Amino acid sequence: MHTLQQTVADSVELKEEGVFSGQQIRLVLEPAPPGQGILFVREDLPGAPCIPLRPENILGTDGATVVSDGRHSVYLVEHLLSALHGLGIDNLIVRVWGPEIPLFDGSATVFVREILCRGIRVQPVPKRFVEVVQPFQVRNGVGIIRFRPADQFIIRVRIAFDHPLIGEQSLSLNINPITYQRELAPARTFGFKDDLLRRKEKGILRGGNLSNAIVLDEKGVLNGKLQRSDEFVRHKALDLVGDLFGSGWAFKGEVEAELSGHRLHIEALKNLLSAPGATRLSDGIPTRIFFFLPPCPQPAAKRGIDLGQSMVR
Ligand SMILES: [Zn+2]
Repeated sequence: MHTLQQTVADSVELKEEGVFSGQQIRLVLEPAPPGQGILFVREDLPGAPCIPLRPENILGTDGATVVSDGRHSVYLVEHLLSALHGLGIDNLIVRVWGPEIPLFDGSATVFVREILCRGIRVQPVPKRFVEVVQPFQVRNGVGIIRFRPADQFIIRVRIAFDHPLIGEQSLSLNINPITYQRELAPARTFGFKDDLLRRKEKGILRGGNLSNAIVLDEKGVLNGKLQRSDEFVRHKALDLVGDLFGSGWAFKGEVEAELSGHRLHIEALKNLLSAPGATRLSDGIPTRIFFFLPPCPQPAAKRGIDLGQSMVR
């Protein structure tokens, strides 16, 4: 694992239609100083409100992970967070003109490719980790997540869908930038045609098209081919890597997730962080103090008073 903090060497700019809002979304990833962490800035709202990536600002829903300070939100952060966690980026300013992060092809490939294209800058400050020090588990309905201490970041994921192409799939991986890029980053999200049509009719999905995900009917894939037969569990692992970055600190330990989703990932992470003696920060501080720390400092470009209203309800 890396021992020093990292940021991007230069800014990355991306644009695409948002699947929830249907708006054209502009996204700029900027270098940030050591200790800054990950900071989301809603540039389209008055005063450009900032939302630091911190445990109390992350929410898991059934279909996406959301960064929110209670008034302002950014939807669909999980694949970007996964790319940052997988590549070992600690500090970044995420400027977004709209209420969501673009989905692109439903994987983390675009984020990984563009960040590596600009380069990664190593910063002369020790990297910050959340470290599991005692076994801990969270169960919610059929889903369960188990955490165990380990010197690496190890994930074990199992999914089960009553579908001829999916069935039961499992994957174990020691996550580092090489394994992440090779094994997880290209795996695309997936959805079922009937569910997507229902969400379109309800107005939940105002944008998006068949290039944003693997779309399945009851028999097979409606839009092209799978990259690998277990692309589904690889994407679930990609999501888990993203959600485990919800504290804003890199994760150290073993995580076993069965039949889980964003809601359970985030619930489990928050429970883990607030459980007495279950985790510590890399400088030895119990993680429960997380919830009492002041917000991250805002970047120099932050200006004005926050008058914005959340665009996501
Ligand atoms: Zn996903």
